[in-house]
Parts: sequence; C-alpha cells; structure tokens
Amino acid sequence: MDIRFYNTLSNQLETFNSIEKGKMRIYTCGPTVYDFAHIGNFRSYVFEDLVKRYFIYSRYDVKHVMNITDIDDKTIKKANELNSSLEAVTQQFIDAFFNDIAKLNIIKADVYPRATQHIDEMISIIEILEKKGYAYQKGDSVYFSIEKFPQYGRLANVSRDKLNTGLRSDADEYEKDNIQDFVLWKGKKEGEPFWATPFGDGRPGWHIECSAMSMKYLGEHFDIHMGGVDNIFPHHENEIAQSKCSTGKPYVNYWIHCQHLIVEDQKMSKSLGNQYTLADLIDRGYDEMVIRYLLLSTHYRKLLNFTFRGLDQAKKSLMRINDFIFSLNGLKPVEGESETFSDFIKENEIGFKKNMNDDFNISGALGVFFEFIHYINLHMDNLKKGDVENILAYIDRVNSVLGVIKQSSSDTLEKQIMEKITLRERARQEKNFQLADSIREELKSKGILLIDTPDGVRWKLEKK
Ligand SMILES: [Zn+2]
Repeated sequence: MDIRFYNTLSNQLETFNSIEKGKMRIYTCGPTVYDFAHIGNFRSYVFEDLVKRYFIYSRYDVKHVMNITDIDDKTIKKANELNSSLEAVTQQFIDAFFNDIAKLNIIKADVYPRATQHIDEMISIIEILEKKGYAYQKGDSVYFSIEKFPQYGRLANVSRDKLNTGLRSDADEYEKDNIQDFVLWKGKKEGEPFWATPFGDGRPGWHIECSAMSMKYLGEHFDIHMGGVDNIFPHHENEIAQSKCSTGKPYVNYWIHCQHLIVEDQKMSKSLGNQYTLADLIDRGYDEMVIRYLLLSTHYRKLLNFTFRGLDQAKKSLMRINDFIFSLNGLKPVEGESETFSDFIKENEIGFKKNMNDDFNISGALGVFFEFIHYINLHMDNLKKGDVENILAYIDRVNSVLGVIKQSSSDTLEKQIMEKITLRERARQEKNFQLADSIREELKSKGILLIDTPDGVRWKLEKK
C-alpha cells in the first residue's frame, strides 16, 4: 500500500515516491531557542513525529534532521534583555527543548545542527548565489533578488503581482532594491555577534540557516520537508529559492505543513495567558502522554482547538487503551491460538494502515483501533495464549506509530501492578487517600486484591 498525502508544493494529494528506494530523508524546522516551546510548537513536533514513526513502521530507513536556531533577532534580543551571553541563553532553552520532547515521547532526530556551528556552509551558499547573480550586496548586507527566480511564490501559491502589493515582507529593516527581496547576510550592528566574511562582518539571515543545514546533512535533493503553516511564507519559499538557485537542482519533493492550534476557541497569545508550555500543563496535573494523545488526534490540516475538556477526553481514550492492555496481561489463558483472532488482527491492521496511508487520517486510524479493542473486550474469555501474544504484538506495532504508551504493552502484569502499588503508596504518604482508594478500587475491578501487611503491600489475584 502506498502512502499518500497532501503536498503543499503541488497543492494536491500525491503518492510518496522516495528518491532512494527504501529510504526517506526528512527535514523539519526546529525551535528558535529564545524561550520555552509552547503547545502550538508541540502540535507540529508531535505531528512530525507521527509521520516519521509511520514511515519507520512502513519499513523505511528514515534519516531526520532538525535544526536549532540559536542565532536570530529574537535570541539576540533575549540575550541583551537578560544581559547574558547568547550561548548561555540559548543553551538553557536547548536543554528545555530536549527535556520536553523526551517527555512527549518524540523520537530524536539523527542530527540537531545548530546555526552558529554552520556559518561556513551558509557563507559558501551566499557566495555561490552572488556569483550566479541571484544575490546582491547593498550597504553591509546581502540580499536575494526574487526577480531572478521566476518560480518564487509557487509554494505559497501567490503570484508576483500579489507579492508586490499585499503580502508582508521580511521583517528585517535593511535597505534593499525590491521590498520583497530577503536578506541572506546581515551587516554588523552594534551589540550583535558577528562573523568575518568576504562580504563583510555580520551574521546570517534566518532563512539561509535551514538551506545550509538541510543540504549539508540530507544532500542537495531530499524527500520531505515539514513545518507549521506559518513557515510556508516567507521562510520555506525563501529556502527553496536559495537552495535551488545555488545548486541548480531540485530541492525538496514533498512539503507538508501542519495547521495552527488555538486554545479554548481563542488565538494563543502571551497576553491572554493561554500560551501554555508543557510544564504549565504538567503542573495542572495532566500526564505527558495525555497531552501527546490530544495533540496528535486531530488531523494535521485542521485547526486544533486545544481545550481542557479535550484533555479530559484524551485521558479517557488513553485509559481505555491502558485498561485493555492491563486486562490482557492479567489473563491466564490456555495454550493454543485461533485463526479467528489472527485473521481479525490482520484485517484490523489493514484498516489502520489504509487510514494512515490516506493523508495520515489519524481519526480514522484511531477509530479502527478502538473497534479492535471493543471486539476483543467482548471476547476476552475466549482468548488463548497465542492470541494474547498476537494481540499484544499488534498493540506494540500500533503504538510504535502513536507513541502514546511509554512502556511496552507486553510488560508483565507483575510490573504494572507494582507500579500501581508504588503510586498508591506515594498517594498515602501525601495523605491523598482519595487517590489511594481509587487505585485500590481500580485494581479490585481487575481482580487484583491488595493486602496491607507490616512488611509492606502484597497482592493476589481474586479467585473467580
Ligand atoms: Zn526552517
């Protein structure tokens, strides 16, 4: 089965064909490390992780690169505000970023190149662009002339006329020949870090960072480039212009963009106090996996309305999956295996794939998986040992795509019960007797009795 999805570049659904058989090379725009990432950023990162995991599940050898923008207007501004060095400020947010993605169970990229460590690569692209006549120097800065690249505007689907009249230009305040031309290299300014180059002291523009770092690690022509919809223009449009004009080759075959996130029907903003970080939500008592579940369960081309009610629903859905695994591990099935169940697993997995292959239709895929849980729950008593193993292996495959359960589903019942007991002990120490009682009840409903003894808590299976 082929993977089909919407390519921003062609404005239509396309079947994925990799440049090199069996391999998928992907670049995703990473964080600008001047602040903690917020749930809007995480929506993109979690979706990108879902896509990557699905390619891995589909047996592609995936190479993933994500940049870290550790120099730009915002990082410099922050360092000046804090009266600190750029390195110290950015390192703090780089650490926070890695911490957050680990919590959200996002698979790490193969390389996280930092802009400040790839200045030479940027300089050489700018030199080529100047030599080929795509770039010009004005004052202390170097600009890309969009006049020279007739395809400019194709990704964002905007015509040249429209570009000249309406669209917002690059925010950089430097002189340039044409209002839409964008800066490749910014001349040195007081109080800013700079590098010496053949075209003068200064620092790189933001867009050139991604062209230089993607091509260095993935080659001049690679498969997929992802980001949020707000990256389409001008950032990705500019990346295409710089890369194609410098190499004379195609740059990226497929562009995938994730929609925005709003919070409780409102635009997310610092002034409204709804620009939540991961830590904010964890402080409110939400589990990281619940947050991940909510972020990935809306189709990526739809606006995601992030609400606390939605988080509660995500919690319930996740609990259904976890309870299901818990019950399976608690069975004492007889030896054997039946074709009915193995056929059912096969059929269900085909349904799961069919949905994921259809523009990553996550709601459809989740729906199919919950149908599976429902059916097996109804037939729990008829499962034999081999069936249980096959079911657990299937859950692991689905979870290798979703990533919403941190432990392997075939972890022993013993281990899962011990985790619950530890949780209950902690609750009792904290005098949270309501939580402690609810854990006891939860276990009891699954036929597990807890016995408090002077030596600690023991457990036994209730006789049916
Ligand atoms: Zn980028």
